[in-house]
Amino acid sequence: MQPTSGQSATQKLTPLMQQYWEIKAAHNDKVVLFRMGDFFEMFHRDAEIAAPILGIALTSRDKKAEVQTPMCGVPHHSIGPQINKLLAAGYRVAICDQLEDPKLAKGLVKRGVNRILTPGVVYDPDTLDSLTPNYLASFDKEVVAFLDVSSGEAFYYNVREWSEALKLIKILRPAEIVLDPESTSAENKSELAQVGSLMTEFANQLPQAVSEQPKACSLLLSYTAHLQGAASLALMPIFEKRDLLNRLEISPTVIRHLEVFETTKGEARGSLFHSINRCKSSAGARLLKQWLSFPLAQKQAIENRLDHVQFYFEQSPLLEQIRQKLGALGDIERRLGKIANPSCHPRDLIALAESLQTGVAASVLAKHKNWSKPALEKALKIASQILQTIVDEPPSQIKNGAIIRSGTDGTLDELIDLSTNSQTKVLELEAREKELTGISSLKVRFNSVFGYYIEITHTHKSKVPTDRYERKQTLANAERYTTPELSEIEQKVLTAQARRVELELAIFEDLRRQIQSSALELLTLAREWAELDVLTSFAWIAIEQNYSRPSFNDVGNLRLEGSRHPVVEQSLKIPFVANSLELKAHHCLLLTGPNMAGKSTLMRQVAITSLMAQAGGFVPALRADLPIYDRFFTRIGASDFLSEGLSTFMVEMQETAEMLHNASARSLVILDEVGRGTSTYDGMSLAQAILEHLLGSTQAMVLFATHYHELTTLVQQFPQVHNAHMAIHEKSGQITFLHSLVPGAANKSYGIHVANLAGIPKQVTARAQTILKSLEKKSQSVVGDSLSGQLGLFESSAIAPMVEDPAISLFKDEINSLNLSQMTPLAALNLIANWKDRLLPNLKESGQKSQD
Ligand code: ATP
Repeated sequence: MQPTSGQSATQKLTPLMQQYWEIKAAHNDKVVLFRMGDFFEMFHRDAEIAAPILGIALTSRDKKAEVQTPMCGVPHHSIGPQINKLLAAGYRVAICDQLEDPKLAKGLVKRGVNRILTPGVVYDPDTLDSLTPNYLASFDKEVVAFLDVSSGEAFYYNVREWSEALKLIKILRPAEIVLDPESTSAENKSELAQVGSLMTEFANQLPQAVSEQPKACSLLLSYTAHLQGAASLALMPIFEKRDLLNRLEISPTVIRHLEVFETTKGEARGSLFHSINRCKSSAGARLLKQWLSFPLAQKQAIENRLDHVQFYFEQSPLLEQIRQKLGALGDIERRLGKIANPSCHPRDLIALAESLQTGVAASVLAKHKNWSKPALEKALKIASQILQTIVDEPPSQIKNGAIIRSGTDGTLDELIDLSTNSQTKVLELEAREKELTGISSLKVRFNSVFGYYIEITHTHKSKVPTDRYERKQTLANAERYTTPELSEIEQKVLTAQARRVELELAIFEDLRRQIQSSALELLTLAREWAELDVLTSFAWIAIEQNYSRPSFNDVGNLRLEGSRHPVVEQSLKIPFVANSLELKAHHCLLLTGPNMAGKSTLMRQVAITSLMAQAGGFVPALRADLPIYDRFFTRIGASDFLSEGLSTFMVEMQETAEMLHNASARSLVILDEVGRGTSTYDGMSLAQAILEHLLGSTQAMVLFATHYHELTTLVQQFPQVHNAHMAIHEKSGQITFLHSLVPGAANKSYGIHVANLAGIPKQVTARAQTILKSLEKKSQSVVGDSLSGQLGLFESSAIAPMVEDPAISLFKDEINSLNLSQMTPLAALNLIANWKDRLLPNLKESGQKSQD
């Protein structure tokens, strides 16, 4: 590559910069960190990219030059965290080091790239978000594969078409996608570009026979081997085949609409995961994410998980003990990933050993689960082997040894003994020789030329045992000797330190390899602990938030009593209004009512409840009897797509088209104000036709929120459609949202009231009121209260507390407006229970006031 930024063609390059450009040419797609003395420097575009990310000053290399060379640098000893920042920002990094000692180099120091790091190949757990897997992904015509080198998690799905592969990639959001340049079309690439992962083209260099795994998996192995050296293949992961059979299918769109992992603003706080995750370990949290991404759709499998949750739910002291253990578990998967790398530290092994012991202790407590006894025994054996081999507190630098315990190896003990006690050995030998020869002036001495020697003055020459003593040097008044024993000590002492380090590192390496050879078994165990963590987290949140065990029916009916939205209820400072609803299979709930009344919340909470249940958890409801859905379809909001150049209405129609084509009689469809993006008549016609198609052809269960009140007449045509609305209290022109689901269509839309609340100028809302009146006069359609009696199936409704005072007068109004005799006992009870919470504090307060 030719110098691009700021480098004039005429400007003569120094030999150093020539060397830089030669290296940079081969690594044009990476930020090159170029070692110069104690610093790693970056130049030109790399420097401009890196300086803001690393928060360091951008300077220039040759300030006097006509054209400046932008540069920035980091000290070599603090390079680790800096590399991590670049990786986290999505850049590949090439480390170009000095390949010879600069003091010995003749001329320019040799340099070369000896390490390449990319966002998808990160072994250091400290670099990664502990709650999120760091996947590398790849795909071919039949397979989409994922590999997290940091945890050893490797799996693939068989796919029938590209769209399935794309969907999985969008759900699992890999850090990096490896593309086979030959088989990836430009269209594939442009669709992948929207996922936001780093894309790397790489041709497989691994013969298929070596990996014996599907092509896409083999490409990932080849890529990691290319970056990390062939050694990384030593622990070649076996890709587990996963499938989507018996899973509730939720597309990336549904995951986004239901705000499963992040809110529409892109924040984790406020998402379902954030609200219900009570896992104690990072591996548990990552598994929970997986369970929420791929919930089950097979009754027995769901019930199995629920049985475990219920067991812990009912045994809270035991639950606490287990969770205490899980809290000390650490991240075994990522620790193993780190240990797979020869540059790991003895402390990683100790941490692993402690984690394994903790995990086994958790298993002993969690008897309810079926543990493999040999696997637990093996884990304990490995743990004690590590703890018996590595010293308690290994030094941070291992180049001087001192990491292996004495007693581990006879030769090492001798070497440690020699290197630390050489002086004692020499003194012992000196004392012994004095006694044997009877020469009291005999001395053992050392000099760097002759090493160790026994010095005897000429006076005592006759007493020297010539059979054992060998002369080394003659001085004017003394002779210097050595003996086989002294030579041996000398040999040992002189090389002891070097040999000790060598042997310690060999023992360490041997131990590391042994762990590696058991890594797959340990990983299996670690996943079971992660599973225990998720199940106990489900039990914990169920106790904490008052959730209950759902039941499932085969008919496909939905019955929720006292249902809440798990995220909204945690975020509100006031009590959440629980709602009850009942909907038969293939039926539709048509929700009307103003904005802000709680329609979206209610529809989302129905879907989220089933999502939580099918993931194996308890649900935020007093009672829940649920269908087992095969797929969710949602159409809620669309502003987040505008960046992709699609109009809101286009996105809305694309998503609706997908559900009309793919929904089945076992699916749940949520449509929130479909058709609103076009003219009223267009939108209303489309909304009605879409609903008719869903009812007639797909027969899915539908929750349909609309502002087109005209649609509420559909109940006359379709017995499976039921009108309902969110109750509003209106008094003297002031409206209060009660957030209670009640039967019947809303009689008014209150749009102008909401506009008022939002601060629209009074003259505008007054004018709107006049226009509305004249439109209403012209309108032929009569909708509203007259239809509310037509609900056959919708039995229960709960009127719940509200915030606005005076609560008591509201309560009276509410009671008056309802025909209690027509309410089911459950609905009446809900009503009283909900109001009790609200009224009691008010009654107490007014009681207090009257006393005063
Ligand atoms: P829009 O049509 O504008 O989306 P909406 O009818 O769908 O309005 P939501 O967005 O569901 O209304 O709810 C508005 C707000 O009302 C929520 O953010 C929440 O704070 C509150 N809310 C909704 N449902 C309840 C409830 N059951 N109990 C208490 N507060 C609720």
